[in-house]
Amino acid sequence: MIDEQYLDGNQLAGPLRDVFAVEVSAADCRCASCGLTGPLATLRVYAHAPGLVARCPGCGEVMLRLVRAPTDAWLDLRGSVFLRIPLPPDPVGPVEADRRLVGEPVRGLPNPLDG
Ligand SMILES: [Zn+2]
Repeated sequence: MIDEQYLDGNQLAGPLRDVFAVEVSAADCRCASCGLTGPLATLRVYAHAPGLVARCPGCGEVMLRLVRAPTDAWLDLRGSVFLRIPLPPDPVGPVEADRRLVGEPVRGLPNPLDG
């Protein structure tokens, strides 16, 4: 049963800005329960729980929990398969960035995975 007293996913933007130094409201996320993928802003946010609870608009399962304590933030993403966060272009370019991720050396650039 889905409670209809929810806020939209934009309510997560401010609290998550404290955790991530990037704007996450434009991020896409995928529900681990039903596979629905869409913008974080489409999640249904319940603020009357301890912290914030964001549920999938498709199946109602919990995708994200955020509790802000005085000195810590607790972020539970176990209900999400991923968050895809838009970022400014990588200055080294996508090919070099992909090689860097898999640890292949890039000619002329130091490999950050090498000690
Ligand atoms: Zn779902």
